[in-house]
Amino acid sequence: MLISLVVPCYNEEAALPILYQALCEVRDSVKDSGRTFEFIFVNDGSRDKTAEVIRGLASSDKDVKYVFFSRNFGKEAAMYAGMEAAKGEYVAILDADMQDPPSLIPDMIKSLDSGECDIVAARRVTRKGEPKIRSFFARMFYKIINKMCDVEIADGARDFRLMTRPVVDAILSMGEKQRFSKGIFAWVGFRTRWIEHENVERVAGETKWSFWKLFKYAVDGIVAFTTAPLRIATYTGMALAAGAFGYLLYYFIRAIIMKIWTTNAGYPSLLCFILFIGGLVLMALGLIGEYIGRIYVETKARPIYIKSEDNIRQDT
Ligand code: UDP
Ligand code: MG
Repeated sequence: MLISLVVPCYNEEAALPILYQALCEVRDSVKDSGRTFEFIFVNDGSRDKTAEVIRGLASSDKDVKYVFFSRNFGKEAAMYAGMEAAKGEYVAILDADMQDPPSLIPDMIKSLDSGECDIVAARRVTRKGEPKIRSFFARMFYKIINKMCDVEIADGARDFRLMTRPVVDAILSMGEKQRFSKGIFAWVGFRTRWIEHENVERVAGETKWSFWKLFKYAVDGIVAFTTAPLRIATYTGMALAAGAFGYLLYYFIRAIIMKIWTTNAGYPSLLCFILFIGGLVLMALGLIGEYIGRIYVETKARPIYIKSEDNIRQDT
């Protein structure tokens, strides 16, 4: 039985040899059970020597498969390409930087073998070594998205997972261009077993995620998996309109019964109200714009990635 290990790589020249060693150890440790492996490295338009490193590995090890992108398309695209190329009965996705400990893979295989679950996924229970402020915002993000979405997206869940063929096919059948894997993994369902582990820091190189990039990723995730924010605009609008109507009624009655026609202290409050409501209107417009922008991008139906080179044989 073939097992595919998919590794998205972006500027990972330093980490790759270490990872390859670890993957070979995994391969050796379960060799007796009649398993064969393929390692699929997806080079996501790296600017360093990642391509050379991967070619070098492929020339000495026939289990090494690769797909190179014509430019950087992002980890989501790299995972998709890797899963598309994978022919295994089981498919795993793991980071190149050893933050997803390959040593967990033999246990994951055993879990799937037992037939108790279709997905074994890893989850960080600590965020040791990560900036405090970043952990805080990450927690907030999971709280917010889980309040709004129908599917449960696990806090601390990594993309590291081993899946059976039906799960992989289900994920590949979701053809959206702007992919948010954490949501897609949750959305397809299936029985998931969680393996918990401590946060591991990357062995070499540096993270590709700036705070701003993560923030955009969070907004993308929310927009991709729920239309609840659109409803916020509706409800706020309704509440404001009701308030304004009450206010009008109050002044009307005051004018009729108490014969007070004008107050002259209203200028600053008027300005505040106008600015406040103007702000809300712009915010709601921006929100609608987020969704329209996605519709626009999806209707262009561009491919998820462009391949410049690979060594995947198509015939099998
Ligand atoms: N990655 C990628 N394309 C990108 C950014 C990252 O393929 O545009 C890969 C990267 O090589 C690594 C994985 O995605 O294997 C996770 O990236 P990173 O370690 O930077 O993220 P973090 O672990 O800090 O969340
Ligand atoms: Mg990492």
